Amino acid sequence: MMRKPPPWPNGARCAVGFSFDVDADSVVHAGKRGGVLDELHAVAQMRYDPHVGLPRLVDLFGGYGIPITCFVPGWVVEAYRKPVEHILAGPNEIAHHGYFHEWPREQDRERERETLIAGSARIAELTGKPPVGYRAPYYGLSRHSFDLLVEAGFLYDSSLFADDMPIVLEAARGRLIELPPPASVDDYNQYVSSRAFDYLMTISPPSRALEVYRAEFDALWEFGGLFIPVWHPAVSGRPAQAAAIRTLVEHMLAKGGVWFATLEQIARHVAGLIETGAWSPRVETVPFYAQPVLR
Ligand SMILES: [Zn+2]
Repeated sequence: MMRKPPPWPNGARCAVGFSFDVDADSVVHAGKRGGVLDELHAVAQMRYDPHVGLPRLVDLFGGYGIPITCFVPGWVVEAYRKPVEHILAGPNEIAHHGYFHEWPREQDRERERETLIAGSARIAELTGKPPVGYRAPYYGLSRHSFDLLVEAGFLYDSSLFADDMPIVLEAARGRLIELPPPASVDDYNQYVSSRAFDYLMTISPPSRALEVYRAEFDALWEFGGLFIPVWHPAVSGRPAQAAAIRTLVEHMLAKGGVWFATLEQIARHVAGLIETGAWSPRVETVPFYAQPVLR
């Protein structure tokens, strides 16, 4: 039995929330620590993100009046104030993505809590309010993550490739809305081959990546689901890759019936549907297992 997708505003067929993880060189500092002074190649590659890729993409989407959601580590908000501030030139959202892009599951509960609070504080200093959305760096959630997010007042998470439409996560401390990205729509899989990051994929021409993105979008459009690409300005903000995004946006606009929104807008819409009983999502209890199934 297929569950019915949620009704989208204005009778739209599907919802699209373009999301970008603005990691910049936070990942290099977190990974290399004191060794970062000799990591010029890796740092330069990641500084492309705030200096070149991010402004290009903000302006590209701004030209269409289409909102985007940027997940930004706290340190990046502070270190690259001007480019991050430029996100707010459009109808866009800034959401939480760690502080130095640390692995949540490698932190203990208290350290993970401190990281959440510190990242939220940096974002609130810029936007005037704490973020309501979260994506775990490396998708590397811990068993504590959802309780900590509920305690900190978050509305949604977007880290799990769990469904084709929003679901609800039931944690011990309360509920969160999960906005799942499709598993195939991370741009690292398409475009990144880097010895510096130990990430060696066959690089796709943007036309081929576009084929993957378009197939995913067309199917979700048909089905009435939610399309949330996870892209990185350091990767998809380069000229040929950004041009492919523009082609995809044109395809969506020509097809019509798409609700373009920030992830916060999508989560609030879903929360409203749940409150009025207009739609009921699938509910998952997290963490999924209290004890290992095998020992
Ligand atoms: Zn990231």
